[in-house]
Amino acid sequence: MNTVTVKIMSVYLIVFVVLSYLVLIKCLYYRHRRSLMKSLSHVMGVLSDRDTHAADLRALVVTAHPDDECMFFAPSIIQLLDLNVSVYLLCLSEGNYYNQGALRRQELLDSCAVLGIPDSRVTVINHKKLPDDPKAEWSVSLVSSLIVNHIRDHSFNMVLTFDGRGVSGHANHIAIYKAVSHLASTGQVPNDCCLLSLTTIGLLRKYISFLELPISWLLPSCLRCVVDSQGYKKARAAMFCHRSQLLWFRHLYITFSRYMYINTFQIIPQGPKNLKIY
Ligand SMILES: [Zn+2]
Repeated sequence: MNTVTVKIMSVYLIVFVVLSYLVLIKCLYYRHRRSLMKSLSHVMGVLSDRDTHAADLRALVVTAHPDDECMFFAPSIIQLLDLNVSVYLLCLSEGNYYNQGALRRQELLDSCAVLGIPDSRVTVINHKKLPDDPKAEWSVSLVSSLIVNHIRDHSFNMVLTFDGRGVSGHANHIAIYKAVSHLASTGQVPNDCCLLSLTTIGLLRKYISFLELPISWLLPSCLRCVVDSQGYKKARAAMFCHRSQLLWFRHLYITFSRYMYINTFQIIPQGPKNLKIY
């Protein structure tokens, strides 16, 4: 074989591999549509023997700042709403780091409206002990009491929030996970409420957009939410509502982040119920 033939063969091989990978992603999208409700039933089945219907689900997304809901949780919010799940948002700060709290609150409401969550289902906390500040240590007891009261007041049976690495590593995100873990381990969460943490992935996987899907598919997770191009457009439109945050690197994030297309979750294990702490 001469070098020209080898080069042509190499090009064919690369094109074949790329096309096969894209076909694989397309197939996974189709499979995902059918498997999402099954995964939800499985997750809820861990807590209850009865069959789960999407309309019975009341999901609370707990975030730290305005824009977390679309930067990190958009695929879940869009997919759950598509299934007719009632989705609510609890944001624990106004995002007042640059004294833009009022503006950012409105941007959050606009973003939620684009995603499909009405104002009446959005709660924004403005507490002086919960500043938008990566250097601030949020009190686990304060955050956990705010969350558990909200769960009880609205009878939520599903809570979605950050994991122990907070996706971006922000201390306020991690504080929420610590608070929810505390509630879980001390048995303070209602019996029928499932707690889910959004899996933090490494930098390489994080910025290859939807091309990351086969990896997420292969790795174990208890719930996987994936949006198609229509869902992505909605997530992007929600991101554009946060105009005060649209610096150049946010545009890169919108283009390349896998969290604009894919969310994977793990169950936060719960300890014995009604445990008394002395
Ligand atoms: Zn945040």
